[in-house]
Amino acid sequence: MACAIFSTRRAGGRTIVKRNANILQIENLGIHFDTFEGTARVLDGVSLELAPGDTLGVVGETGCGKSITSKAVLGLLPVPPTKIVSGRILFQGEDLLDKSEKEIGKIRGTRIAMIFQDPMTYLNPVFSIEKQMVDVIVRHGRQRGEPVTRKQARTQAVDLLDAVQIPSPADRIREYPHEFSGGMRQRVLIAMALSGKPDLLIADEPTTALDVTIQAQILRLLKDLVNRFNLSILLISHDLGVVAKLCRRIAVMYAGNVVETATIAQVFDQPAHPYTQGLLASIPRLSRRVDSLEGIKGSIPSFIDPPGGCRFNPRCGHAMSVCRKEKPLLEETSPGHRTACFLYKSSWPNT
Ligand code: SF4
Repeated sequence: MACAIFSTRRAGGRTIVKRNANILQIENLGIHFDTFEGTARVLDGVSLELAPGDTLGVVGETGCGKSITSKAVLGLLPVPPTKIVSGRILFQGEDLLDKSEKEIGKIRGTRIAMIFQDPMTYLNPVFSIEKQMVDVIVRHGRQRGEPVTRKQARTQAVDLLDAVQIPSPADRIREYPHEFSGGMRQRVLIAMALSGKPDLLIADEPTTALDVTIQAQILRLLKDLVNRFNLSILLISHDLGVVAKLCRRIAVMYAGNVVETATIAQVFDQPAHPYTQGLLASIPRLSRRVDSLEGIKGSIPSFIDPPGGCRFNPRCGHAMSVCRKEKPLLEETSPGHRTACFLYKSSWPNT
């Protein structure tokens, strides 16, 4: 589990050792994809922080860079065509970008686990849940240097199914994925993710394929597991409502940039960035009677030829000339609330 965390950095010929309070700290991450049409600059200096035991939701429209960010943490982006052009990804003080594929493979599944949107895609339909879970637990045991027998792994698997509230786990473990409902399959995947005893769980749209009742159950379960297993969660979602139910903090992404980060209450009560304000205005609310919902005009720009300055400027009703020339930095606009927007600057760069 999370412990004292240090990172090292070379500067001026010296090694600087620094204590980090965050289990995950992404600093100025830049990622490009080489395509036939040209270079797509899909992440443009993303910075995110997640404290041990905390929950951070990353939201934004499809294509804004949320999943790319989470896959970069786990080293799941193919190189080529992916190029990491800047930044660091510090996990418990270690820069994951400095690790070899073998070293990342040891972290993946054990210290950092991931659950995905469609559980059926990640469960093998021809093997029982028992075989799949026991294989995973035995492999994780080997990776952690704590080998377990298949019998011990089966006992652990039943306990984990019980922890994710699968009824009669000792019987149901013998069944196959098609005998489980969508919500139950997602619980099985969560149990498998927990089997490596991770410190960080990355959940990429874990409830998108589920109906709203089951969605609420899975979110309640994840919330319970955060306390029970002392987990930190990075939740990726396009749905602000889902993020609000599980997370304490939120980071809003737009076109490969983090444009606002704050607590859930700050973002819902006083959204600062025009993009966040647009996202919130497009959510239907029972307390507000309207004839039609306001959307955000336009769409996510091309990553091959993105707009200069603030990438949101072609869609922003407040855009000024500075916005087309300079990129706004993510800066504190009130305690714990950071926004990347020139509306909150008292002076602008010379343009
Ligand atoms: Fe709009 Fe300018 Fe703020 Fe970007 S920096 S969100 S274009 S006002």
